[in-house]
Amino acid sequence: LKRTTILNISYINTNFTHFLKIIQARINNRENTFIATVNPEIAYYAHQNPKYQSIINDADFVTPDGIGIIKAAQIIHQPIQSRITGFDVFKAILAWGSQNHKSAYFAGAKPNVIADLKAVLKDEYPGIKISGIRDGYFQDNQVVADEINATHPDMVFLALGSPKQEEFIHQYRHINNGLWIGLGGSFDVLSG
Ligand code: UDP
Repeated sequence: LKRTTILNISYINTNFTHFLKIIQARINNRENTFIATVNPEIAYYAHQNPKYQSIINDADFVTPDGIGIIKAAQIIHQPIQSRITGFDVFKAILAWGSQNHKSAYFAGAKPNVIADLKAVLKDEYPGIKISGIRDGYFQDNQVVADEINATHPDMVFLALGSPKQEEFIHQYRHINNGLWIGLGGSFDVLSG
């Protein structure tokens, strides 16, 4: 997989379909996989914060999520093929996961958003087995980690915002083999 480095972050440089195939194969094989979706704000924050930078560098795949990343790549004459947003990955993995009866854990966003998200999942992605679903305003990370450990989902979707979601994934990814992805405001958007 081709990658392009901008300000010490290595972004995947491929098209959406190819990336999706790689991720689907890794989920099928229950490979431990951390995807970080990085926009210019996050890239800037990482540049200022070495600890967060190392967390982003721990991701197996960093997707260029934001037109600013694509523009920056053009400026340094290392064009990136395609912008890949967290939201697009989320929807595509949900659709595929529904068809293939994958299990998923969801944590993030406000309680009212989670109520709406549950309805959307039931209506539009009925094949997804929900191993757990909760809002993102919990006090104790360990409680959430224990729930993920106990229910052993194929996929963990976290919408806690950055840097929280990536810090959580970095700390707990080894308790469950499968996909871990930070999705920012994607639960809010999907629950619409
Ligand atoms: N959020 C959360 N817990 C927190 C802080 C934020 O679940 O402690 C949620 C928030 O409700 C929203 C999501 O994180 O659904 C993304 O927040 P924001 O838009 O600030 O982050 P970004 O998308 O810019 O990373």
